[in-house]
Amino acid sequence: MIDQFGRSIDYLRLSVTERCTLRCTYCRVEEGICPKAAELSADEYARIGKACARLGIHKVRITGGEPLLRKDILEIIQKLSAIDAITEITMTTNAQQLAGRANALKEAGLKRLNISLDTLDAAKYHEMTGGELSTVLSAIDEAIEAQLLPLKINTVIVKGKNDDEVDDLMALAKERPIEVRFIELMPIGALGQNDAMRVNNDVLIAARPFLQPLPPCYPGQPARDYAVDGYMGRVGFISPLSHKFCASCNRIRVMSDGKIRPCLGSNMEIETKEALASKDDEVLLETIRNAIYHKPDGHHFNTGFISEKNMSRIGG
Ligand code: SAM
Repeated sequence: MIDQFGRSIDYLRLSVTERCTLRCTYCRVEEGICPKAAELSADEYARIGKACARLGIHKVRITGGEPLLRKDILEIIQKLSAIDAITEITMTTNAQQLAGRANALKEAGLKRLNISLDTLDAAKYHEMTGGELSTVLSAIDEAIEAQLLPLKINTVIVKGKNDDEVDDLMALAKERPIEVRFIELMPIGALGQNDAMRVNNDVLIAARPFLQPLPPCYPGQPARDYAVDGYMGRVGFISPLSHKFCASCNRIRVMSDGKIRPCLGSNMEIETKEALASKDDEVLLETIRNAIYHKPDGHHFNTGFISEKNMSRIGG
């Protein structure tokens, strides 16, 4: 559907849990898996998916927290993929629990994966996240094997932490059919407010004249993509601060407890509890329609916006 600013909203980011196995330094500060916040059932996510589909949403990205922590993740994917109008289901994961599950995810209806990976140094990975690098690297190969393609690697560059690894991270795409994407650190979460830790993607691009710009795969694509000579895959830059793309934003978020968050850069949330309890699908439809229509015009990341929740609570 079209929102109040004329944008066509066709993409849902659905968080299925706030819990996460990792404690990435810039995202969250708690130790280990945080206490379980309200989570809806697979049927409730499917109801939300159906209502969204009636409003013109055809792409769903499942996220969290860490979505693979949900024991019923296959059921959630199956129920969403049974909705005719939903043509693409994808997932963002830290891949710590992916081993041996890629084929089952594919069979359940998952089309492709984004895997988060910020460093190729095992000690630094453990220090930055608490997880194991070798697990992620073998999960990348397992996901490629299972044809969860195109696979994207999401990397947040943090000054002084991993900004010396940009070329090494890009090289993951040398012999793999993947896209390595550098995402600017947003003012959300533990370190996000610290401007000194931010790296402007324009600086990374300017320092690498070998990057060859590619046309966007679809209109309004947030990433700027580049080819590199001799690379099987590609490199992308997502720059919400230096190249704000709110005018073409096509997404809304639903958090694990069912609340709608129409814009990542606004603390506005819309409750769906009563609509879900009413069992009347029209009430739920109207609640979502209203939330989409009132999606804010854009984020205020550059002018002091403070997010009340970190990314693992909102759904990254
Ligand atoms: N657990 C899953 C994972 O790690 O991919 C999904 C949730 S995680 C919150 C999703 C993504 O949000 C990760 O790639 C993480 O790097 C990113 N993220 C968290 N805080 C961020 C911030 N302040 N700015 C940019 N990206 C952020």
